[in-house]
Amino acid sequence: MALHLSKSRYCAAVQCPKQLWLKVNRPEAADETLIPQAVLDRGNAVGDLAMGLFGDYVEVPFGDLTQMCRRTEELIRAGTPVIAEASFALDGLFCSVDLLRVSGDRAVEIVEVKSSTRVTPIYLEDVAFQNHLLTQLGYDVRRVMIAHIDTGYVRRGALEPDRLFALEDVTDIAREKRAEVEARIAFLDKYMRSEQEPPDPIGAHCFSPYGCAFFPYCTRDLPKPNIFDVAGLQMRTRLGNLRKGIVSFKDIEAKKAVNANALLQVSHALHDLPPVIDKKAIRGFLDGLTYPLYFLDFESFQPAVPLYDDSCPYEQIVFQYSLHFIEEARAPLKHREYLAWPGEDPRRGVAEQLCRDIPQNVCVLAYNMSFEKGRIRALAQLYPDLEAHLMNIHDHIQDLMVPFQKKQYYTRAMEGSYSIKHVLPALFPDDPALDYRSLEGVHNGTEASDTFAAMADMEPRALQAARENLLKYCGLDTLAMVKVWEKLKQVCAD
Ligand code: SF4
Repeated sequence: MALHLSKSRYCAAVQCPKQLWLKVNRPEAADETLIPQAVLDRGNAVGDLAMGLFGDYVEVPFGDLTQMCRRTEELIRAGTPVIAEASFALDGLFCSVDLLRVSGDRAVEIVEVKSSTRVTPIYLEDVAFQNHLLTQLGYDVRRVMIAHIDTGYVRRGALEPDRLFALEDVTDIAREKRAEVEARIAFLDKYMRSEQEPPDPIGAHCFSPYGCAFFPYCTRDLPKPNIFDVAGLQMRTRLGNLRKGIVSFKDIEAKKAVNANALLQVSHALHDLPPVIDKKAIRGFLDGLTYPLYFLDFESFQPAVPLYDDSCPYEQIVFQYSLHFIEEARAPLKHREYLAWPGEDPRRGVAEQLCRDIPQNVCVLAYNMSFEKGRIRALAQLYPDLEAHLMNIHDHIQDLMVPFQKKQYYTRAMEGSYSIKHVLPALFPDDPALDYRSLEGVHNGTEASDTFAAMADMEPRALQAARENLLKYCGLDTLAMVKVWEKLKQVCAD
């Protein structure tokens, strides 16, 4: 098959040539769920904003490649100073340049826009490919730049794209890489002609710079479960064992190839062992909790482009919380919640209602508390008038995750994980009221963030449905915590 390389295909091949071969020859083998849509959406939003980075511009409309190239040629000849999505093709190579600055008939500058916060090696490969193609076409590429988000930017008033983006000049690197680009294209030209699936092995490249959507396909012949199913291991431990041929759970146990926590998962999976319940340790944890007892969970989103004054790119913005509480032993369970409306800065509303809902000096439980504590610290910094109350809540938070993290309570069904999404179904396998899968629209934190971000553009009816889904989801998070706490009390009483 003749080579057809865009800049993204070229980058896929830099990560792993087999990835490109599979994209072309076995596209159905990709597990698309491994490519988060939010990342793509974020890239689009940032790209749109960056188009205005150098003032007025003309965008080449997306469509037929030949027409895009022709339109680009016309715009350059007409002396258009800034062109978005300027497109070029030569001998099966193709690229659309995010922003092309034109300073003469053939003199140009390439600007690649990234929604991330720094230049990474794969971005250099991307611009090296673009520089190579334009140079081959006879353009005088005077500068190659990468525009990425500057995390030091704090929004005050209208967005300032020239401050939101940092520009890095990578001209020298792009030029130095030309021989490498040429050699890789020649290699791929042969490689892609193979009708047989290449035998390239899996390795660290399957996870970096991006997780590969073909990983389930490429590991289809490994025993199940295997070293990649062991929770909490560093990738180098997984790959080191893979290289030594220690792959199946049986081998892992026989060679004691992983740490004690991981071995617990492996041995429970292999031998269907009874649950581990360290009653003394769990009692110690429970004795540290006092009434009134609050169960708190936040939902947040991280807009790449700051939406509110005094916020930075990618700041974690809490937009929702759920709070269950019990005022004294045997008192009824009560509930409060907060969910911001799209368009408003949620932070002040969250901070104020949190101070109304949680009195000072009470015991607060969160699950994986570092997240809730971090967000409360940020709110306290932002609102000095609420700082004392917020920091009092902060200082009284305890972590319900601890007994599970420390394996004081472990069952096979937890599959080595102590996240609430594993712990809850392991403790309550047959309770549909505690099953996240029975919820509509929002089943996890990522979907909650995406839903809130999307609400800004929703019609009233869809907005109402989205709000209900979010409230149910977050409410289940804290109800789950209550049930987990009750279960801990119950197993200690048995
Ligand atoms: S899973 Fe690994 S070996 Fe397979 S295509 Fe992806 S990167 Fe290449």
